[in-house]
Amino acid sequence: MAQPILVVGSVAFDDLETPFGKAARVLGGSASYFAAAASLYAPIRLVAVVGNDFPMAQYDFLRARGVDLRGLQVADGETFSWGGRYDYDLNRTETLFTNLGVFADFHPSLPEDYTESPFVFCANIHPALQREVIGKVRGRRLTMLDSMNLWINTARKDLVEAIQLVDLVSINEAEVRMFAATSSVVTGAQRILAAGPKGILVKKGEYGAVMFTGDEYFVAPAYPLEEVKDPTGAGDSFAGGFMGFLAQYEGTITPAVLHKAVIHGSAVASFTVEQFGLERLKHLTRADVERRYQEFIRFTHFETEHIE
Ligand code: AMP
Repeated sequence: MAQPILVVGSVAFDDLETPFGKAARVLGGSASYFAAAASLYAPIRLVAVVGNDFPMAQYDFLRARGVDLRGLQVADGETFSWGGRYDYDLNRTETLFTNLGVFADFHPSLPEDYTESPFVFCANIHPALQREVIGKVRGRRLTMLDSMNLWINTARKDLVEAIQLVDLVSINEAEVRMFAATSSVVTGAQRILAAGPKGILVKKGEYGAVMFTGDEYFVAPAYPLEEVKDPTGAGDSFAGGFMGFLAQYEGTITPAVLHKAVIHGSAVASFTVEQFGLERLKHLTRADVERRYQEFIRFTHFETEHIE
């Protein structure tokens, strides 16, 4: 039986612009992408806030996947909204606006059973809020956080304190460089590890992801897609596939298990970017992910015996 994962993060209206199209006020947010991905594997408890302008029916697909929404509060005010633009280099996101709305005054009160959650994912949101939630959960087996350039620039102290509380950090390569003030991702990752976490997952967009743990390094390519429509949410759905796999796994989490989890993350993220917003994730199944996982095994395998 998969163990529950508590996720705290944003639930948002996104305005998205890529060279392949535009979408206005579509459902998004870091917690939405994570929940949509991880709910293919494990029971999800979602902690976030929306305003009274939020159309709850848009979350029916998560409810249908069994996502527990008792931790989603509705407050007086506007739902968080974000505008992002990408050029042909889809690895770079330009933030057009961030409107915190009801997140500005949010202090989550967790339903009693949420306070015992073995897996906790702090999706991208203010690091003080991430810390607040971590502090309320007992019996954590694995805690991971994600962040972004905005918080590195504006809330560094809170972010460092949050990083000290978690087992794993997921972050993209530009943010590693920014956080550690170095051009080397390897050096940057080591500096983040020095703050306390056991591992760091560095996302490299179309080039895949790498995982650094104390003494190990593991590389996962991205799936070779011909067409990427919208990279929004790739990082959160990567985290969802990764953590979902771990929550479903019943044995000890060894390096080999973590490697499989990274490939699941890459496989799920590769679907997310095929369509705008959450569209592809809404219809994704575990069987789709499993097929792609098998392809990853084929294209990453190479013979190591001597070849004449
Ligand atoms: P990703 O593409 O994985 O980095 O995540 C994109 C999602 O993050 C979008 O759906 C946004 O709504 C959300 N997002 C962007 N900026 C922030 C922020 N400052 N705090 C929380 N969520 C954000």
